[in-house]
Amino acid sequence: MAKYVYDFTEGNRNLKDLLGGKGANLAEMTNLGLPVPPGFTITTEACRHYLAEGAVHDGLDREVAEHLKALEERMGRKLGQADDPLLVSVRSGAKFSMPGMMETVLNIGLNDESVHGLAKQAGGNERFAWDSYRRLIQMFGKTVLGIDGDLFEDALDAVKGRRQDTDLDAGELQRLVETYKGIVREQTGKDFPTDPREQMRLAINAVFDSWNAPRAILYRRQERIPADLGTAVNVMAMVFGNYGDDSGTGVAFTRDPGTGRQGIYGDYLQNAQGEDVVAGIRNTIPLEELERLDKTSYDELVRIMEVLETHYKDLCDIEFTIERGKLWMLQTRVGKRTAAAAFCIATQLVDQGLITLDEAVTRVTGDQLAKLMFPRFDHGAEKKRIAKGMNASPGAAVGKAVFSSERAVELAGQGEDVILVRRETNPDDLAGMIAARGILTSRGGKTSHAAVVARGMGKTCVCGAEELEVSTAERRFTAPGGIVVAEGEVISIDGTTGEVFLGEVPVVASAVVEYFEGAEPADELVKAVDRIMRHADASRRLGVRANADTPEDAARARRFGAQGIGLCRTEHMFLGERRQLVEDLVLASTDEQRQAALDALEPLQKSDFVGIFQAMEGAPVTIRLIDPPLHEFLPDITELSVRIATSENPTDKDRALLAAVKRLDEQNPMLGLRGVRLGLVIPGLFAMQVRAIAQAAKEVPGARPEIMIPLVATVQELESVREEAVRILAEVGVEALVGTMIETPRAALTAGQIAEAAEFFSFGTNDLTQMTWGFSRDDVEAAFFSRYLELGIFGVSPFETLDREGVGRLVELAVQEGRATRPDLHLGICGEHGGDPDSVHFCHEAGLDYVSCSPFRIPVARLEAGRAALSETDSDTR
Ligand code: PEP
Ligand code: MG
Repeated sequence: MAKYVYDFTEGNRNLKDLLGGKGANLAEMTNLGLPVPPGFTITTEACRHYLAEGAVHDGLDREVAEHLKALEERMGRKLGQADDPLLVSVRSGAKFSMPGMMETVLNIGLNDESVHGLAKQAGGNERFAWDSYRRLIQMFGKTVLGIDGDLFEDALDAVKGRRQDTDLDAGELQRLVETYKGIVREQTGKDFPTDPREQMRLAINAVFDSWNAPRAILYRRQERIPADLGTAVNVMAMVFGNYGDDSGTGVAFTRDPGTGRQGIYGDYLQNAQGEDVVAGIRNTIPLEELERLDKTSYDELVRIMEVLETHYKDLCDIEFTIERGKLWMLQTRVGKRTAAAAFCIATQLVDQGLITLDEAVTRVTGDQLAKLMFPRFDHGAEKKRIAKGMNASPGAAVGKAVFSSERAVELAGQGEDVILVRRETNPDDLAGMIAARGILTSRGGKTSHAAVVARGMGKTCVCGAEELEVSTAERRFTAPGGIVVAEGEVISIDGTTGEVFLGEVPVVASAVVEYFEGAEPADELVKAVDRIMRHADASRRLGVRANADTPEDAARARRFGAQGIGLCRTEHMFLGERRQLVEDLVLASTDEQRQAALDALEPLQKSDFVGIFQAMEGAPVTIRLIDPPLHEFLPDITELSVRIATSENPTDKDRALLAAVKRLDEQNPMLGLRGVRLGLVIPGLFAMQVRAIAQAAKEVPGARPEIMIPLVATVQELESVREEAVRILAEVGVEALVGTMIETPRAALTAGQIAEAAEFFSFGTNDLTQMTWGFSRDDVEAAFFSRYLELGIFGVSPFETLDREGVGRLVELAVQEGRATRPDLHLGICGEHGGDPDSVHFCHEAGLDYVSCSPFRIPVARLEAGRAALSETDSDTR
């Protein structure tokens, strides 16, 4: 029989799929003997059942009741018992952390009777008991009953005035409880539920439901977390950080999540419960100050942090509560970190002997490396600094200040760069945070919602810039010196230093890019990148080539570590002034005219290839013969028609051009006269290109050309162009491989035959995806992919990450059948997927020889190829 509930003593860290990250790690800490309040976890399977059936599984209530009974026996009190109540928290906890996205309810078990029992338990501390009760109604009202949280906040503000919440006395809090109960009655037409078990049951269901809350769906899509995992629910005996000044709650990291440096990092809030820290309600104090307030708890915390680091062999983040001088661990996990910290931590852990260099490579990702390659602010530029906050998530962001999530989305939708400015963010700001270039808040620490979410997304964030007075209502903020920044004014924020500047600060290349360009590694980060890249290179089986078609791109690709060019598209070489020659080619009515146009193009093509061969210094260069439909090089049909219609005496050439353009016009150009078909239909076109390649190769010592035929669907097409190519190569006296792209489904399906005529295959997965899905690659992403993503038809565009189930099967089939025909067939990929991390792993698994991608993606592909070779499973740093 399925088991839906696990006591914390029953689980472990490897059960994240079943117990969620929080549940699995609570169990792990329990097993390590750390002070975790007792409790149990309801599995993600139970959640999936609930979401599918709209009701909990029959056995769940019974299992929960049994575990609750065991908990009650252990604690020596019953849930909500009037004279001496056990209280519990109910918290969500999915496999992947989704900070602030889902629900938590604390203090379950309180009602008009047990509130007195709680006060008694607390040695007559009435204030504490009523504070806990008002928190329950507030959290339960918002989360479980769906009441607008502002109603409770406003009621609290009305009592508080200019005071802090900790200044309220028992009487005031008791009256607030009555007000809150009134809000519940008014908003739901029912009384606040006083039965503790009913409270718990409703809270559990609310956590299940929160999996499908709009903000959770949005977050998952952004972070590419699968939609069907469900969340676990943790029920835990309450410990209280709101007893008084000898109590409190905090968040800690075993290392700085911004830089990776080891030490004591975190925030602490005296006399408070967990949600106060993340919500930024009151300003926290730095964790170091806890040493002064409560040395025993502080020392114990530092000891536990060491235990966790050594045990998890990684940065851990921690939530804890101190209840009257006793430390309790409420959560830990391998913590999120910035991209820079990920590299530094990985190499630090190697130096500490905790992990191997192999493991270090698997601990960082290509996406993190890509983030490090973003530009940063120019240190030398003039800038007007108006504030300094906390460096919550690095990067340089410039944009117009906006003060609401809606406005951020609206302006970003119009193509504007915006910075979302808020006093503090909450989960409802998620859409605006995604739309913004950067996030700036005036309150909250490095563990505030804004900071955690921004770091997770790799978005620049400065938080807690307290010098700023943010007025959302007036859509402006003021900075010291009477500076007022209204909506729409440009600001620049530096997430690496925490600085805020007025106006636009110029940005420059990142130090990591400079390193890839050849600079010596200078700082800790670049040294870490260097070490990891070297090891990835030494470990990978896949070669990495570049898609480049100018000598400049080729040279950059070489500096970035490309081992060759996997795709040199020749079509751009027919643009600019050379269009004229293409027009002559199209208009040629005799063989002589056509040959004259080709003869004029040949030396130009040759010089193009000479430049590229030189830049590649003897590395292989795969040159693809011309691919796009010819009308792409001719004037637009409408423009030409208008020109002729409005001209007093249109030229004969224009008229002839219009006729040609009309003749070449196609309903489906991507499926029309292009690729190998052009070579077969226009005599001499491919021959001219092959001759130019051969002659260029002859001129550049060591040049290694490979000639690639696009859009082949049958071996017959390839055979006839290959024959001609081989003949020309022999005439010029140059050796070159001749191969084909595999970018039509038919080519993949008949790869065994095609390999008879091809020395290499390069998978053109852009076209292959287009034709396999029947998706126009130029239209569908803008037209309806957002809807498809929303519907969960796929989690990511198949043009971005290779669709393993469909397109991937065609690739695998072609690899297998191609190699069966020709065992030494060389295999690569040159579609956009060649630089996408997940697709690189696929290429490794499918047995390709290399991936080819744009020059800037080369370091990412090198790293991911190394990771693919070193690990089948990804590390858990999401
Ligand atoms: C492809 O189709 O994947 C490819 C690389 O060719 P292009 O993008 O030029 O059509
Ligand atoms: Mg293509």
